[in-house]
Amino acid sequence: MKSSQTLIRVENLNKTYVVKKRVLQAVRNVSFSIRKGETLALVGESGCGKSTLGRTLLRLTEPTHGQIWFEDQSINGLSKSKFLPYRRKMQLIFQDPYASFNPRINVKEILSEPLELHQLNKGSGRITRITELLQQVGLNPDHMHRFPHEFSGGQRQRLGIARALAVNPEFIVCDEPVSALDVSVQAQIINLLKKLQSQYNLTYLFIAHQLAVVKQISHRVAVMYLGDLVELADTESLYQTPLHPYTQALLSAIPIPDPEVERKRAAVVVKGDVPSPFDPPKGCPFHTRCPFAMPICQTVKPELKEVHPGHMTSCHLY
Ligand code: SF4
Repeated sequence: MKSSQTLIRVENLNKTYVVKKRVLQAVRNVSFSIRKGETLALVGESGCGKSTLGRTLLRLTEPTHGQIWFEDQSINGLSKSKFLPYRRKMQLIFQDPYASFNPRINVKEILSEPLELHQLNKGSGRITRITELLQQVGLNPDHMHRFPHEFSGGQRQRLGIARALAVNPEFIVCDEPVSALDVSVQAQIINLLKKLQSQYNLTYLFIAHQLAVVKQISHRVAVMYLGDLVELADTESLYQTPLHPYTQALLSAIPIPDPEVERKRAAVVVKGDVPSPFDPPKGCPFHTRCPFAMPICQTVKPELKEVHPGHMTSCHLY
């Protein structure tokens, strides 16, 4: 159940890469927190920095600047051994679990790896734990001797979830876990993640490139554009009254099954492609595509500020 206690807190997080002597600012001064038992969705087009942000929280890549807290502990800067207990508490579910599995090892070995790393469920308890994990994600424990290629895409994602669950984590970064799946399978995986969340009070950062995907699972939604957080709100507020023109455009792209409603709604259409992250526009990073851009937008970058209680956006219109 979502509580008022903060589990993850991020302040002024930056991640910069240097590629062939050119600077790429993948994440720019991002701050937010996630409460225990909450799902924060992180949405934006490919290349906006959302996966980099997710991986930085897990310290799979180190931040260039900024702070990350797990409860009251600042975790960036911890040595490898001091970080190990946090590594167990913070796990990742991949978009394509198949690419992350060693194809030469079977399910039993795949699920043994994290248990071995964290010295959990040794001896006969190991098989009991693997059986339990497979049951929790809706896979047949009799299949623990099968190899990843013998499963469907949805079953492989269930296996990826079982691997993340194996070490009893508290926080999971779900990095586009349903993007590669058929719509009907997407719903099954989202329902499974919701069930596991309420069973184990899990906290999720759920990354997706479409707003349509996250409505069913998220408590709050953060929208990213070119490395910046441009809107952050409760799911209902964001879908009912999106403030940032980019969020409005993302919502306009979701088809409505009723042709009458579809015809009447005012669509916000953005022009052009996402600018190069090597050379982001000055001022508001969205001004080159925004249908409401004003002269100030070309020179002054808007701050992320609270416009309504709990609803933040960075736009000169507010
Ligand atoms: Fe559009 Fe200006 Fe708002 Fe940026 S600041 S989103 S360009 S209106």
